[in-house]
Amino acid sequence: MSKLTIPLGLATAREIPVDVDISISELKPEGAADVPITAVTVSGTLTEFEDGYVFKGWVTGEYETTCDRCLEELRQAFRHEALWVFVEDELPVAPASDGNGREMDLSPEELDAPPMASYSGGEIDLTAQAWEEVALSVPVKFLCSVDCAGLCPGCGANLNHEACRCSKHEAVAEEKSQGGLKDLARLFPDLKPGNSEE
Ligand SMILES: [Zn+2]
Ligand SMILES: [Zn+2]
Repeated sequence: MSKLTIPLGLATAREIPVDVDISISELKPEGAADVPITAVTVSGTLTEFEDGYVFKGWVTGEYETTCDRCLEELRQAFRHEALWVFVEDELPVAPASDGNGREMDLSPEELDAPPMASYSGGEIDLTAQAWEEVALSVPVKFLCSVDCAGLCPGCGANLNHEACRCSKHEAVAEEKSQGGLKDLARLFPDLKPGNSEE
């Protein structure tokens, strides 16, 4: 049973406070892609309504990764708002087929129904919702700051903290390469710019 399985039977109030710390390894379904997060906190309130419960709250945690530009370690807090609806499933678990291998027909209304989770047995499991909230919100790019200067491609200096060490070398290299072009021009006098008519 997940830490995020909330028993409803104990609640006499219409509101059940939720405050659960859970590790990503407990949250992540088998085979799902990794996320740069160690643990999250799910906090909020499960409130009873006519057909079930609605969870309103937050999934909070911290990305632990590296900056895409300067490769420095980076921690970035996140706080995703959560609004999840759970409808009581009064029927026993419906089979996907009628037992003769035929698929059960679903009406268009059922197929287009808003994504609501169902619960039964007097408890609500928030695990799948929490995972989805986390997994779908991971940024594709991480930057330690919006104006991160990154690494010098020449000397690898982290330009956020140190000056580039290769500016002199670069100047020398440029002279050399220009010298090289002059040498080439001497070797192949026909190859002057503007002579290519073909
Ligand atoms: Zn950076
Ligand atoms: Zn440099």
